[in-house]
Amino acid sequence: MKNITKRNLFKGLAFMALSSFLSGKSDNLLAHSDKKDDYKKSNFGQDTDALIVVDVQNDFCPGGSLAVKDGNTIISEINEIQKKFNYVFYTQDWHPIDHISFSTNNIGKKVFSTIEAPYGEQVIWPPHCIFNTKGAEFHEELEVKYANAIIRKGFRKEIDSYSGFFENDKVTPTGLEGLLKTLKIKRVFICGLALDFCVNYTALDAKNLGFETIVIEGATLPVDIGDSVKNTLNGFKNKGIHYGKLTQFI
Ligand SMILES: [Zn+2]
Repeated sequence: MKNITKRNLFKGLAFMALSSFLSGKSDNLLAHSDKKDDYKKSNFGQDTDALIVVDVQNDFCPGGSLAVKDGNTIISEINEIQKKFNYVFYTQDWHPIDHISFSTNNIGKKVFSTIEAPYGEQVIWPPHCIFNTKGAEFHEELEVKYANAIIRKGFRKEIDSYSGFFENDKVTPTGLEGLLKTLKIKRVFICGLALDFCVNYTALDAKNLGFETIVIEGATLPVDIGDSVKNTLNGFKNKGIHYGKLTQFI
């Protein structure tokens, strides 16, 4: 009898300690604890939407080495959008200094020209998003706390990666597909930089992998080289990728 009482007392104390731990830590328990999700009641498998925020990094914003015009102006919108999703994944361009795509490693080649890489055509870019530099960091206005996971890409010197799903050889996976499918995600919403490159390739792969795919108008902007924007939007139409304001879909 005495033992049982002791055991119950111990259980009670343990429960109280756990409760106070959870209530004290609730702000930080999940990246999205201030969203509609209640962390005490898992909605695993029921919420089938995910947001993918592509490359909102300093080098792709004004002042960066590969700046998208007005790239920073979409960040406040992205921050608002993030609050509506329980599953938020970031991609982060993350290159070594000797990366195949850099103009500094292709002497005589102009920026935005192309070379023939073993995996196909590769655009030459100014050096950007070199890992452990300021340029590779997320923009300071981006509320990174909402990210459930960050997928880094382009970290092998011999191959570039535009898409958040596959490197540019189109076969080497980043792991994002597995992450989304494990979570039973059916629809992906994509925003970020840049519409005509990394957002575009991420959307094409998402659609090919069987996800209903929406690119969020007003939360993405292009690099805009030649016909890249026109080609991107035509591609969306042809492939059945939606492009529109978030309010049209949720
Ligand atoms: Zn890059």
